[in-house]
Amino acid sequence: MSNVISTDDLELSCPNCDGKKIIIVNGSEEKCQKCEGKGVILTALGQTLLHFIKKHM
Ligand SMILES: [Zn+2]
Repeated sequence: MSNVISTDDLELSCPNCDGKKIIIVNGSEEKCQKCEGKGVILTALGQTLLHFIKKHM
């Protein structure tokens, strides 16, 4: 049995900017608001882990 968590389980390539971190709005590049320019968004598991870590920091 494996308990390894892959980063793929924690974050996904942002569907809004396709992981590019920027989107084209009216012909100009803007930071993707959905992922806040990270290019990735947290999965439900990622959110859970983040809350867990914050609780213990
Ligand atoms: Zn994005």
